[in-house]
Parts: sequence; structure tokens; C-alpha cells
Amino acid sequence: MNDRPKQKLCPICKKPRVEQYTPFCSTRCRDRDLAQWFTDGYALPGPPAMPEDLDKGE
Ligand SMILES: [Zn+2]
Repeated sequence: MNDRPKQKLCPICKKPRVEQYTPFCSTRCRDRDLAQWFTDGYALPGPPAMPEDLDKGE
């Protein structure tokens, strides 16, 4: 019998995960995953900035 437990891996870099940062292996990967979420969810089309606002000097 070869009863080797399956090592869970970090979904970002595929390294063995660390319990403290589950399901990731480090804060770096956790941040990276978060950044991906932000990129996906906040990629809304829209005007970047109104030029009129910059013209309002004085
Ligand atoms: Zn990782």
C-alpha cells in the first residue's frame, strides 16, 4: 500500500501551500490572487478623467 497523502498546492505558483496562508504558499501569492480579482472585477470601461476639470484654474 502506498498511502501517500496528496500535497495541496498553491494555485498561483504550484508550490506546496503553507497552512498559515492557505490556500496559498505565501502572502505574495495571496496578494497576487487578490490583484487578479481586482483586475477582473474592476476592468470597467469609462472615461479616465475629465479634461474639463483640469481646465478649471482660478
Ligand atoms: Zn504560491
